[in-house]
Amino acid sequence: MTFHVMIIPTLNCPSNCKYCWGSENKKEMMDIEVIDQILDWLGDFRDDKVHFTFHGGEPLLAGYDFYKEALEKLSKLPNFEGFSLQSNIWLLTEEMIDLFVKYNVVVSTSIDGPKEINDYQRGEGYFDKTMSKYELAKSKGLIINFVLTVTDYSKDFSDELYEFFKGEKMNLKIHAALPSLRGDNADPWALDQEEHGKLLVEWLDKYLYDLDKFTIMDLDHICKSALRRRGTLCTFADCIGTTLAVGSDGSIYPCYRFVGMPEYV
Ligand code: SF4
Repeated sequence: MTFHVMIIPTLNCPSNCKYCWGSENKKEMMDIEVIDQILDWLGDFRDDKVHFTFHGGEPLLAGYDFYKEALEKLSKLPNFEGFSLQSNIWLLTEEMIDLFVKYNVVVSTSIDGPKEINDYQRGEGYFDKTMSKYELAKSKGLIINFVLTVTDYSKDFSDELYEFFKGEKMNLKIHAALPSLRGDNADPWALDQEEHGKLLVEWLDKYLYDLDKFTIMDLDHICKSALRRRGTLCTFADCIGTTLAVGSDGSIYPCYRFVGMPEYV
């Protein structure tokens, strides 16, 4: 089994998506020493393969020098398996792209569908900033996957969302917007579970005819899970014990969603 370690260099983010409760305007930033502490901790913690995922807030705020050192150090762990990174990619530079290609970092970014729908939820200018960096990454050979967050607002544009990702041949994961764990700004955007299920069923009916055009990872994972009799994505499995998250000060949490909440350290 793979052990997932999520590294959250900061909860800060230059974006201000309306349904986000996972970012904070604090300037705390992970020091590279925390990476050394992670390596000490994992040295004799368990024998499983280890996959590292950088998440935030916006993880690219940590900068090129942090990643150059962190990727080199972490990739030397004897049971190292691979890297992923989740980002809005606004701060992606050419030298970062080259670094991520070198270490086979699987990068995911978030787009909530066509520009009008995306920018209504995620803020004016978001779509253009992310898509221009996507084109740059693609031109330099860095593969980018997408996360589509469906909200109580965008669920009514289910067909437009589907056609957008299919038309652009963009591989995606679907996230349902969740109620807040901090504050209450996200609550009106949260997607009801029934509506989430309805969208997955509608999309599966269409996807069966479009399997050669793009990838909807959730539907693929649900099919795999049915055959393996076990969830293959943390949202469809009992993930306790297979994932831990490390915050900017080195505190360890059960999942990135709880980072910055002292009661979960
Ligand atoms: S880009 Fe991500 S972390 Fe930043 S505000 Fe939007 S949802 Fe939150």
